[in-house]
Amino acid sequence: MIQLDPIAALATAPGIGAIAVIRVSGQDAISITNRFFRGRDLTRQASHTAHFGTLRNRPDASGEETIIDEVLVTIFRAPRSFTKEDVVEISCHGSEFIIQQILRRLTEEGVRLARPGEFTQRAFLNGQFDLVQAEAVADLIASDSDASHRAALTQLRGGFSRQLKTLRQQLIDFVALVELELDFGEEDVEFAHRDQLRQLMLDIRRVLHPLIESFSTGNAIKNGVPTVIVGKPNAGKSTLLNALLNEEKAIVSDIPGTTRDVIEDELFIDGIRFRLIDTAGLRQATDTIEAIGIERTQQKMRDASLVIYLFDGLNIAPTDLRDAVAEVRTSGKPYLLIGNKLDAIDAGRKEELEGIASEPIVWISAARHTHLDELKAALSARVRTDAAVQTGSAVVTNARHYEHLTGTDNALARAITGLDTGVTPDWLAMDLRVALQHLGELTGEITTDDLLDSIFSKFCIGK
Ligand code: GDP
Repeated sequence: MIQLDPIAALATAPGIGAIAVIRVSGQDAISITNRFFRGRDLTRQASHTAHFGTLRNRPDASGEETIIDEVLVTIFRAPRSFTKEDVVEISCHGSEFIIQQILRRLTEEGVRLARPGEFTQRAFLNGQFDLVQAEAVADLIASDSDASHRAALTQLRGGFSRQLKTLRQQLIDFVALVELELDFGEEDVEFAHRDQLRQLMLDIRRVLHPLIESFSTGNAIKNGVPTVIVGKPNAGKSTLLNALLNEEKAIVSDIPGTTRDVIEDELFIDGIRFRLIDTAGLRQATDTIEAIGIERTQQKMRDASLVIYLFDGLNIAPTDLRDAVAEVRTSGKPYLLIGNKLDAIDAGRKEELEGIASEPIVWISAARHTHLDELKAALSARVRTDAAVQTGSAVVTNARHYEHLTGTDNALARAITGLDTGVTPDWLAMDLRVALQHLGELTGEITTDDLLDSIFSKFCIGK
């Protein structure tokens, strides 16, 4: 375990609070804090114990030490701490002035102020966790919905990286054998058992594929699900948006095609964030302003991960409904078919339209705010059909991870094709090395300082 120079930072959010926590980590963190702590001798206390006392300023000319604050100091001895170094957590009163005084006092004793993410970087360097987990710490701190919080927690607990590490080690053993074959040059030797190698590569790809596929869900969880509401003018899209957001965000009007601007807002359902996008409708443009609106609608539909198709149950012609269903189906996006104005239609009409659509319709009345819970449940269910979200299994939320997962997969696919076509060992070794490079960068076994700096600089100070 390495203990680096002592660093300190405020670990809690800046601003006024009941308490604030300052974290100190590194060589001599405990004895340094002890120099201006009055209470028990911290250097003689066991790990994971908390001690009440006061922190003191340097003695003035008359030898008097003024009190900075009454604090509770918790000590963690290496390697049983977050960074695996000696760590002191000082809980003081949450005033900006006190925090600054304590940090200044620490720097007087030779402690350096930490850079963003430096605590987590040390934890990573000391093998506390791998890079995927370190990045999960950042995501956990930044998570603002239940689902993104759960995804980050799963990764922090080891997620997919442990499994990949084992497979990577097995692949390294094979690459060593293939490279040994290269040393024999012209001689026709095969140390690496080709069938076993193929099997291993297939196994790795089997682990990679659900992870790669989870990225779109994972990304949605982290960044929200872009959801578009489409339908003909007067279907009630603006009314629905208002009902869902419970505020007057959209212009409701009796004139067809007045919702010209695309309005975006967020809706949280079951801990999932839906980014709602209202649109100008799907009908043919009749004037220029509307044309811009429709162009943007189609753009938004391309950007959306989920489509809410809303139709006017009172006024839609049965053939139009059939065409609309066909149209939204061909968009290839997951969608929900929503029938509006339930308050104004009778059971016979409802049945007729259901027969024509020949798929489930969620019926609502946007104006009367009825059955909106069914609509919300359907939205949530659409996103949660991905089993990973329900079971809490690993979901890839990070673009860097996604890049290396697909990089590994592509290299392995090439290597397998190579095996099938009987390529020479040097070609095989090249693809395998590319796969290993991606796998290593994923879990942090291969890192460059630049990469580490860029990852950890995204953290906030004190993490
Ligand atoms: P948009 O063009 O699709 O955005 O449609 P609007 O939200 O502007 O609504 C068009 C018209 O339908 C307005 O007069 C609304 O009051 C009316 N409307 C919307 N929802 C309902 C509903 O649930 N029931 C009834 N009866 N009328 C509705």
